[in-house]
Amino acid sequence: MQRVPFFEQDIARTPIIKLKLRSGNNEIYIKRDDMIPFSFGGNKARKAAEFYREIAGTPTDVIVTYGSNSSNHCRIIANMAYAMGIGCHVISPEENRTILYNTKLVEQFGATIEICPVTEVSATIDRRLEAYRKAGKHPYFIMGGGHGNPGTEAYVKAYREILAYEQEEQFVFDYIFHASGTGATQAGLVCGKLLESRNADQEQGAGNKNRIVGISIARPAERGREVVKDSIREYLGEKFEELYREDELTFPDDYRCGGYGNYDEAVSKTIAYMMAEEGIPMDTTYVGKAFTGMLKYLEDKNIQNSKLLFIHTGGTPLFFDRLEKQGEAE
Ligand SMILES: *Cc1c(COP(=O)(O)O)cnc(C)c1O
Repeated sequence: MQRVPFFEQDIARTPIIKLKLRSGNNEIYIKRDDMIPFSFGGNKARKAAEFYREIAGTPTDVIVTYGSNSSNHCRIIANMAYAMGIGCHVISPEENRTILYNTKLVEQFGATIEICPVTEVSATIDRRLEAYRKAGKHPYFIMGGGHGNPGTEAYVKAYREILAYEQEEQFVFDYIFHASGTGATQAGLVCGKLLESRNADQEQGAGNKNRIVGISIARPAERGREVVKDSIREYLGEKFEELYREDELTFPDDYRCGGYGNYDEAVSKTIAYMMAEEGIPMDTTYVGKAFTGMLKYLEDKNIQNSKLLFIHTGGTPLFFDRLEKQGEAE
């Protein structure tokens, strides 16, 4: 296995920038995790860095993971595996086989792709891991979307970056918004807040007050919350009972536009605006949808006089997929 210098260092703090755009008298800041300098960045790059730590120095010679044709996670993991000089095997559901930029990149990184019906993903993973082991290989399995404790840890660290920024700038964000999918990003932010508030309480009785809002991009609230909560429980372990509070978990599902991958006119408008006015690319599946959802949420909840932070979680190749489609439509 080769060492990859990028992953050997800590992820440098990603920039936090104040937007021109305001919503009423709310000020909006954006944290550019899309600018993490590996394979177009994004939250999957941040998570991959934690998986790298788990894998480096082990006899792992192939990473097995799963994700769809549009998966940012699969792009990053396939790129990381290539750079490490080890194999990558991607299991992918058969429904949507449109070739997107992420699909092409995964292929270019030499990953083997195995297509199967969605209902058989988990059996296929088991079979594949078993087959590798029988062949004397050392597979390492990563859940779809980089779920699991390393993925959660990545956003505990991101939360600490935000805290450091707040301390330097001498203010606290009232809200932190982001696109919530499999839930590890949100679980990490919430765990970061719970752990850091506890430290602050012990030191000087001042907890951190920001509310973390994960805008659901696909899952209905009930199921989505359950998954985020499970990740929080798994990460906090025995501290869970002491630290967790139900009202720390905000997961509105009113801005899903009917489900994963769907979007509406408002999302398209936001994306065009953000690129033209702020120079920031956003995709329709995650970031553009969640950012649009945030703007509606502010109105729906009549939020005023607040400082908001939106975390840009990446997905840049998907921005170009849409751009290409637009060209065809004209
Ligand atoms: C995967 C992804 C998300 C969702 O992150 P989770 O940790 O799965 O909730 C958000 N934005 C982008 C661009 C993603 O690729």
